[in-house]
Amino acid sequence: MKTTRRDFIKISAMGAGGVMLSASPLLAWVPSFLKLKDDRPDDSKAKKYPNFCEVCFWNCAGWVYMDKDNKIRKIIGNDNDPHCNGRFCPRGTGGVGMYYDEDRLKTPLKRITENAKQKFVKISWDEAINIIANNMKEIKNKHGAESIALFHHGSSGKHFVNLFKAYGSKNIAVPAYAQCKAPREEAFKLTFGHALHSPEPLDIRDTKCLVLIGSHLGENMHNGQVQEMAEAIDKDATIITVDPRFSTVASKSKFWLPIKPATDIALLLSWINVIIENEFYDKEYVEKNTFGFDQLKNHVKNFTPEWAYGITTIKPEIIRRTAKEMANASPAVIVHPGRHVTWYGDDTQRLRAVAILNALLGSWGRRGGFFNPEKAKLPKYPIPAFPKPKWTWKDIVPGSYPLASSGVTNMLIHASQPDFHGKNKIKAWFVVGTNLIATIPDIEKTIKAVQNMEFVVAVDTMPAEITGYADIVLPECTYLERYDNIRSAQHREPNIALRVPATEPRWESKPGWWMCKKISEKLGLEKYFDYKDFSEVIDWQLKKIGSSLEEMKKIGVKKIGRKYDDLFFNDNETHEFNTPTGKIELYSTKLEKLGFDAMPKYKKHPEPEDGYYRLIYGRTPAHTFSRTTNNPNLIDLKKENDLWINPKVAKDWNIKNGQKIWLQNHQGKISEFPIKVRVTERIRWDSVFMAHGFGRTDKRLKRGYGAGISDSEMISDVKIDRETGSTGMRSNFVTFLTELQT
Ligand code: SF4
Repeated sequence: MKTTRRDFIKISAMGAGGVMLSASPLLAWVPSFLKLKDDRPDDSKAKKYPNFCEVCFWNCAGWVYMDKDNKIRKIIGNDNDPHCNGRFCPRGTGGVGMYYDEDRLKTPLKRITENAKQKFVKISWDEAINIIANNMKEIKNKHGAESIALFHHGSSGKHFVNLFKAYGSKNIAVPAYAQCKAPREEAFKLTFGHALHSPEPLDIRDTKCLVLIGSHLGENMHNGQVQEMAEAIDKDATIITVDPRFSTVASKSKFWLPIKPATDIALLLSWINVIIENEFYDKEYVEKNTFGFDQLKNHVKNFTPEWAYGITTIKPEIIRRTAKEMANASPAVIVHPGRHVTWYGDDTQRLRAVAILNALLGSWGRRGGFFNPEKAKLPKYPIPAFPKPKWTWKDIVPGSYPLASSGVTNMLIHASQPDFHGKNKIKAWFVVGTNLIATIPDIEKTIKAVQNMEFVVAVDTMPAEITGYADIVLPECTYLERYDNIRSAQHREPNIALRVPATEPRWESKPGWWMCKKISEKLGLEKYFDYKDFSEVIDWQLKKIGSSLEEMKKIGVKKIGRKYDDLFFNDNETHEFNTPTGKIELYSTKLEKLGFDAMPKYKKHPEPEDGYYRLIYGRTPAHTFSRTTNNPNLIDLKKENDLWINPKVAKDWNIKNGQKIWLQNHQGKISEFPIKVRVTERIRWDSVFMAHGFGRTDKRLKRGYGAGISDSEMISDVKIDRETGSTGMRSNFVTFLTELQT
């Protein structure tokens, strides 16, 4: 077989209508981690270290307990942490498996070609750092510093961001923006003048009505939110779940609306219609705080429940009934903005409809709705100013995606293509803690781009599909073995959390900050990493705010009182919103100015042909996407994904429960592995569902390799959101292959 400049190297080569339900008792459902405190070691005898979990972005703070042989024994939540309230989810507890996983990357690796075959060989850290620094110098001389892009995810990415800015490139992107939350962040900014950030400022514990649209809280295990939802249900809050799939939370909801996929905007517009026409909205709030009510009223006047029924398949009486439930709870109602909201390419407009609905119900700034979060301000460790790059991702296709406020991953991949003829090209990649091949839709485009790069570095704890395409692979130690920046996240009360290493890094793995410092020394940029150990930076910052590393090692989490007493609006005061009109914009003046729809409109999306079904993907509680699908502890909870198929469809195809089948998408792409079928009434007949992150293709992942199908592999038809550039990933249809033709 002919080898391309950059072949993938398997590292192993080197070594129904709308339903009202009766909610079942909460305690029957809430995972045990929410009900019980774990069997904690005796604190007086145990050696324990503070940390915050890196298994998902929620970053719950906890304690890492060591046994008498100085081995990590367990991780448990920190009682004082508002992200987890002392309780870790199963994934967080299973985080120990990341440390013990024998499949981890152990040494730096270099790609070489031997006898016309590419492979990785082990190299020393010195050699790896020298190769990286020399390539960075050469690329800067040839094409400019801006031609290297950084893709990153997770805490250690921040060190690489500093390295890149010091080097002269701001071509930096996190998939968590354009592949996840960009539409909601920008839609809420357009409407209320503020993005939501993480954790979202939702007062779920005091809400009386929670509306979940395609958001399966509980299966996604966003710890603090799941706990608050349990509390709200205990206090008789109404849960309304809109989902083509009868998710776990749908089974605990008062209403399940099994909507026809791709029609959510029609339902939202119809709810707005009912709320305005019946004067269910919060009149005083709307009059005082919003802009564009009359335009909105006129805009939605024809979007009746009867109109929406023909589109969504949700019965008019259910649309009216659920709108009334929301109104009854107002303002203690939350139409959840969701995460991973990149679906059909009109996502900013859909999230605008969500924001508008919340505004009409008066929930922004109100108890039981959205609170005003605060975050602890940490002083910046003094470093020189960064150089100004000559161009950034915004100049790749000037004028496109005008609302994108953070690097757009797919834009950088676009500028990395061999047939990209723009003047600002990407020539090299640094990929840190994100498996781009499994994360970014249209895998073939990503592979074409990575093969076109002059130089690729991948930094990770585990072998992943992307590391197989790197020239240099750097083994990062896990979050249990390193210092990182202090966690300072927004919440009701500002708080900080500390991460310290509980043990030495295994094998030859190193922390991200160490790698950046070493590379910076070779590039003459050491003034940006002016410390011997990252703990010095943390201690300096903590002392500036009246704490210290010593104190934080004892407590792990520190709450810092709010500066202002404004968790909720004072209804007697007038509020200025950070929008062009200073009001909550039901009619967006900014969207109008940019030539987009100022108010959301429903547009019909393509539908599957006969024999094809819409592919819906989501989470499973035991895993955080591909990050954990090789974790020895979590694989015991769920080894592979399965494909949910409606019994009617299974009968048509004569497919049995448990049978393994392959998928082919509407563009002809066939899955590499088969998937086990789960025949269930819990999915509409026009859709199929699978959990994301499985079907790993790197053989070195002994447990994850070939376990199920990667949904990303099936997503080749990507609809781009015109406002933010984010990638709509619910536009693919699949059919079934019961056997593979050879
Ligand atoms: S929600 Fe679970 S996986 Fe995520 S940070 Fe918290 S404990 Fe870790």
